[in-house]
Order: sequence, then C-alpha cells, then structure tokens
Amino acid sequence: MVKVDQNTCIGCGLCAGMCPETFQMDLDGKSEVINDENTPCAKNAAESCPVNAISVN
Ligand code: SF4
Repeated sequence: MVKVDQNTCIGCGLCAGMCPETFQMDLDGKSEVINDENTPCAKNAAESCPVNAISVN
C-alpha cells in the first residue's frame, strides 16, 4: 500500500520524477498515487520526500 498525504505534500514533483509508475502530479499540483503497489522505487520516493508525505507499507 502506498499513500500520499495531500495536505502535507508541497508539490515538489520529486516522487513522480523518481517513480512515475506509482505517482503522478494531479491538477492541483499535488502528488497522487496511481498504483499503490509497494515497489522499491515507491519506497525510495517515500524516503526522499522532503516533507515525509508518503507512507508505504
Ligand atoms: S516528494 Fe513529497 S512533497 Fe514532493 S510531490 Fe511527492 S509527495 Fe509531494
């Protein structure tokens, strides 16, 4: 399971750049999860998010 807290997301785009099969930027400029499979790149993106808005489990 992969989740983005859109209230915390600052829209930096890093996760969508690192892992486009999991994240895409929505019309509000926030990240949204398009595939909630817990992949290595989703985990890397979660660890790299500057505001810790991504949870993976
Ligand atoms: S890396 Fe974090 S702050 Fe940046 S777009 Fe993704 S969820 Fe939002």
